[in-house]
Amino acid sequence: MRKEILFSREMIAKRVQEVARRISADYTGRELIVIGILKGSFIFMADLIRAMNIPCRVDFARAASYGAGQESAGRVIMTKDIETSIKGKDILVVEDIVDTGTTLSYLVEWLKERSPQSLKVCAFLDKRKRRKVAFEADYVCFTIEDGFVVGYGLDFNEQARFLPEVYVLEKQ
Ligand code: 5GP
Repeated sequence: MRKEILFSREMIAKRVQEVARRISADYTGRELIVIGILKGSFIFMADLIRAMNIPCRVDFARAASYGAGQESAGRVIMTKDIETSIKGKDILVVEDIVDTGTTLSYLVEWLKERSPQSLKVCAFLDKRKRRKVAFEADYVCFTIEDGFVVGYGLDFNEQARFLPEVYVLEKQ
């Protein structure tokens, strides 16, 4: 796996702090439930909630849209449901990447059927130019062009999640 560094630990930590500060300001005095989308968001979510200065509860869902390669399967299957009732609650969905937009637009509708009071999305990375389905995240740490990225929770065939930096894979 040949790869080049894209974001260092320092760049990530600084940007996550900034976004966490904005979220904290937006939700001051409210009861926030943060829903992480497995598996890619787990490291980002852990850093994000620790950088926020408001309390929150956490839960997780799992959406499978990518197979074992780099291309989206174009359809979404929820393979793990949340275990918390979100009716009437303020919800922040934390996702690793918005790419074609397929996963998040499906997921948001899926959660909205349960009538939360509000629902916003925070994504670590936004690949705006690859959208096939219109979708805007409310909070984004970094916007990137094309390229397949790994590290900081993001994998390629289950490899490289543990890396503290973000790398872009070199085209073969
Ligand atoms: P979308 O449904 O927006 O096309 O795809 C979203 C999902 O595809 C992300 O949550 C992520 O799991 C996966 N994905 C998209 N681009 C990348 C990438 O560059 N690297 C990795 N590791 N996963 C990606």
